[in-house]
Parts: sequence; structure tokens; C-alpha cells
Amino acid sequence: MSHPLIVANWKMHKTVHQSIAFAKELLRRLDSMPEDLPDQVICPTLPALFSVASRLRGTPLRVGAQTLDLGREGANTGAVSAYLVREAGADFVILGHSERRSLYGEDDALVAEKTRAAWDCGLMPIVCVGESPDERKRGATDDVIRRQVSAIVETEGDDWRDPMIIFAYEPLWAIGTGEVASPEEADRVAALIRDWVGHLRPEVAQTIRILYGGSVKAENAAGFAASPHIDGALVGGASLDVDQWLALIQAWREVEAS
Ligand code: PEP
Repeated sequence: MSHPLIVANWKMHKTVHQSIAFAKELLRRLDSMPEDLPDQVICPTLPALFSVASRLRGTPLRVGAQTLDLGREGANTGAVSAYLVREAGADFVILGHSERRSLYGEDDALVAEKTRAAWDCGLMPIVCVGESPDERKRGATDDVIRRQVSAIVETEGDDWRDPMIIFAYEPLWAIGTGEVASPEEADRVAALIRDWVGHLRPEVAQTIRILYGGSVKAENAAGFAASPHIDGALVGGASLDVDQWLALIQAWREVEAS
């Protein structure tokens, strides 16, 4: 199992000042904590990305963007390319989040194109996959996951050799709802993702990391941390408060260390 990775998705929360204050406080508190903590990635809003990345430079903490637009530079009003977020200090980018899919109409093909754009700029894509409540009710979870994963894994054709990729299993009914998948169910789907990637590209199945996301917090982290196919978490609500974030990081570490 790879070293655990916990990713904070701040969505459209925190001003630039609040983001910097969080980063400073986090660094201060981490000073007195053990070193063998999970890897941490903070994904602030775009206006705060550069400031947070600058503040965290030279520390083990990394920064990610929450999306990107296609292209490099040009007449694309309002767009922010992979190149620009990389240059601003991001090492990671969340792609295909269900809120991007539902609010901005991003489909599998666009998520695949964005994944390629991320790779081209040396960004590590964190690609979200997950079924809706209705798909779950219909027993279509596995088909949805296979379809979403195939769209990404097939995107590079035969050149898909050593991809840098993280998948996040985020069942839509568990995001921001307080309803959480059981560790058994999340682990089953994580195993399905790994198996399916292995089926499509046997050479890379063991190198990908798989996160679970959906109402993860300190109180329920242990079950996911102990799940053999889950390598970390993508966290929304519980990442907005330093105390809650560190409690979650600690809870994950305790399971890993035991
Ligand atoms: C998310 O936004 O990806 C997420 C998992 O949010 P929450 O932890 O609030 O459910």
C-alpha cells in the first residue's frame, strides 16, 4: 500500500486572507506533530492558489487546483489553463468532480481531455468518479465506475504507460450530505477501479492511488484508513477548519501506524 494522501477541496470557500491564515496556522501546528503523517494536498480557490503555494513552498505540504480549462493561453475569457495553475504553484488538480459534472456540464470526454492537459503540464490529476443516488438505486454503480474510468484510461491509447493519476471514488449521495459510504462499500469500489484499470492497462494498475471522498471526517476516518484498497481521502467540509483537518490527519495516521 502506498503512503496515504489526504486532499482538501475547499471549493468556493475562504478569501485569500483566510486561506493564507489557514496555511500559516497549519504549518505552525504541524511543527509539534509527528513526521510520519499522511501526505497532504490543499486545493484552495484559484485567487488564493498562488499565495497558499508560496506560503507552503519548501514544506511537505502540496497545493492543487480544483479544475482547469483546456488550451495554454489565448482569447479564452475567464479560463485558466493547466499551464497557468502549474505556474501559480499547483502540483495537483482535481478533475471530474461531481459538482463540475453537474453544474458545468463536464462529461467523460471533457474530463479525459483535461486529464491529458494536466499530464502535459506535469500536474497530477485527481480524477473523481462516482454514481448518483438514482444509479445506485438501479444497481448501476459498477457500470458507471467502469465507464468513467475507461474514458480516462483509454484517452492516451497505447502511450498510456506511466501515467501519473489518482482516482477518487466519490459517490454523489455522500458528498456534502453527511451520509457516508461504509468502508466495505468504498473499499469494494476502490478494488473495482484498480481491477478495471488493470484490465485495461495491466502495467499501471499497481501504480495508481485511489482515494475515497464523501463526508470523511476524523470520526469516520479509521474505517477508510484500514481499507486495503483505499490510499487516502478527498475531503470537503472537514478540510475547512484546521482543528478538524488535523484531527482527521491524526486519525488516519493512527490506523496506519498501528
Ligand atoms: C468533496 O467535495 O469532494 C467532498 C468529498 O466533500 P465532503 O467531504 O464535504 O463530502
